[in-house]
Amino acid sequence: MNKSRQSLIAGNWKMNMSVAEGCALAQQIVSQAATVSCELLLCPPAPLLGFVMAETNGSEVQLGSQDCHFNDAGAHTGDTSAKLLADIGCGYVILGHSERRADHGETDQQVAAKVTAAWRNQLTAIICIGETESQRDAGKTLSVVRAQIAGSIPPGATGANTVIAYEPVWAIGSGKVPSVNDVTKIHAETRTAFAEAAGAGEAELVRILYGGSLKPENASEFLALEDVDGGLIGGASLKAQDFISIASSCP
Ligand code: PEP
Repeated sequence: MNKSRQSLIAGNWKMNMSVAEGCALAQQIVSQAATVSCELLLCPPAPLLGFVMAETNGSEVQLGSQDCHFNDAGAHTGDTSAKLLADIGCGYVILGHSERRADHGETDQQVAAKVTAAWRNQLTAIICIGETESQRDAGKTLSVVRAQIAGSIPPGATGANTVIAYEPVWAIGSGKVPSVNDVTKIHAETRTAFAEAAGAGEAELVRILYGGSLKPENASEFLALEDVDGGLIGGASLKAQDFISIASSCP
């Protein structure tokens, strides 16, 4: 990775953890945070944000949400606004995760509207992109990734307000990972596509995370790559030891 970009290791807890479990996990991570040089981010389920915040307060560990609505307030039962997330102290929001695209039919256009809401409220948007297995088998990975970048990132993207997470859908939770060569090529292409949208200067600054079955055993080979600036971690973020071990692998 480029040393001018600080690595980010983000934990996506998805729909896991009780209050007690989430607080204990956050406490363990906070207590070891000083041992790593990268930025650490925890993204618990929305009802746990306040509890986890109480544990991360005063530490360097950042807090983020797994989604937000594109409006700041109104009649949207069950949704959470970026405005409220910022108000409670979140710095980040994950948007366009493949599970939201699949479970809730989120389109690039809807993701882009949420990204705008995140920026409007000073949240950094972690925009997820990545191909399905059938798209990969059809040789469409680069065109899918390019289309998602073009469609999900509204005008105004910078290296500060945006993080991109490349997550091949077939690698999420499956134990399968792409080759180092493929990740090298796809991350370089992602940076080029971001440069076309936001300019070459911002593209040098934007962090591009790899996500999909990242574990302590395979983290070093991916995190060492020039255009890999950290990881978005699902399963392995639920154990403090694994999460910190991955973070320790950042160069
Ligand atoms: C994810 O869902 O963002 C993810 C990367 O999951 P896992 O690490 O479990 O593959």
